[in-house]
Amino acid sequence: MAVINTKDLQRLESNPFLQMQKRLEKAAELIQLDPGIYRILATPCHELTVSVPVKMDDGSLRVFTGYRVQHSIARGPAKGGIRYSPEVSLDEVRALSAWMTWKCAVVNVPFGGGKGGIICDPRRMSQGELERLTRRYTANILDIIGPERDVPAPDMNTGEQTMAWLMDTYSMHTRAMTSSIVTGKPIGLGGSQGRHEATGLGVAFIVRESLRHLGMPSTGCRVVVQGSGNVGGLAALFLHEMGHKVVGISDMYGALHNDNGLDIPLVRTWLKEKGRLEGFPNADYIDNAQLLTLECEVLVPAATENQITSANAADIHAKVIVEGANGPTSAEADAILEARGVFVAPDILANAGGVTVSYFEWVQNRMGYFWEEQMVFDRMERIMVDSFADVVASAKKYATSQRIGAYCTAIDRVNYCLNLRGIYA
Ligand code: NAD
Repeated sequence: MAVINTKDLQRLESNPFLQMQKRLEKAAELIQLDPGIYRILATPCHELTVSVPVKMDDGSLRVFTGYRVQHSIARGPAKGGIRYSPEVSLDEVRALSAWMTWKCAVVNVPFGGGKGGIICDPRRMSQGELERLTRRYTANILDIIGPERDVPAPDMNTGEQTMAWLMDTYSMHTRAMTSSIVTGKPIGLGGSQGRHEATGLGVAFIVRESLRHLGMPSTGCRVVVQGSGNVGGLAALFLHEMGHKVVGISDMYGALHNDNGLDIPLVRTWLKEKGRLEGFPNADYIDNAQLLTLECEVLVPAATENQITSANAADIHAKVIVEGANGPTSAEADAILEARGVFVAPDILANAGGVTVSYFEWVQNRMGYFWEEQMVFDRMERIMVDSFADVVASAKKYATSQRIGAYCTAIDRVNYCLNLRGIYA
């Protein structure tokens, strides 16, 4: 057996695209995927790198690097968010685009997978600079996006306002108001009721289904949530409302811990007012590494990639991990968690509530007819519950983990469409 040194292991674990490929390879083997189809799915079908010049408020001109990657359009137009962060890299965007392909297939919505990102630090940019960045990036990727081509959405550090600028820029260029070019828009511009809550609520549904599946109590579990943004903050709120005890929650600076449970509505008000969790009363302030190893039944990593690795997987106390973030657990950590009997509801299932409601938004935009919030939540819940059952059945069929079970389900569905369409080779 080849021995891998610590540095190489760290490099492997911190490259999300290699991590995606490892899981793809394992699932492809289990379902005996045709090697040619495997080669198609192992790399994105389209990658665009753009230079984005922006006039800064001080009069200087800066040039940012942006990406839009389409991993697969076999099942429908590419679909996936746009991330603004100093940590964005082409391999990260590639991985995120592939995860979108698998995620859309797991919940069976008719989209392929895409993702975008710009290397920038939005915390150090004004609203005006962010608007000019978004508009010029949109203009630069205009040729490959469109309601039937590639439909962007928000991701880390982008939101409704970013989507409004993107939609406006696209509509100016095409000379037609095109609301279906993006999802996650403000409701006044054609956004869907419930999109804001969708990912966090979907995560809470998957926690509920996981506990039910394992025969664990449906209330009163100790829950730890990493991240308090759109996904983590809302997942924590819904789990609190379901009667669980959220004993830990973090932002990028640190984490709050109280064994008796945190008052999540108050934590969210504090965060909104102060901009960070630090200083919240009646809680210990700990770091993100300590947060992940707190005593709890359920852990929801909902911040960023590569948080649970070979370095800390053995120290995790949770019995159930429900992945709100994309790619929070490395393949090496998967093996450790599996051996310890930890139930992991994988990202491509657990955080798919967002893309499910994005699909509803796209449908509503194309119909020009809008649904009520309860209908959005009810339809999303049904899809999440059914998809959970599909993944559990697939894991059982192939005698594998829930993650690889989810990959098997997804790859099978993408492969089916590729075969129906035929390969234009
Ligand atoms: P967000 O920007 O709203 O929140 C991110 C949270 O993570 C914040 O609390 C931030 O402080 C924290 N954070 C950021 N970097 C961190 C780090 N290095 N260490 C610890 N904490 C850190 O983003 P979001 O929309 O909540 O997305 C979170 C994750 O969920 C991402 O992986 C994203 O791709 C994924 N996701 C989001 C959606 C969605 O609808 N927003 C859908 C599916 C998946």
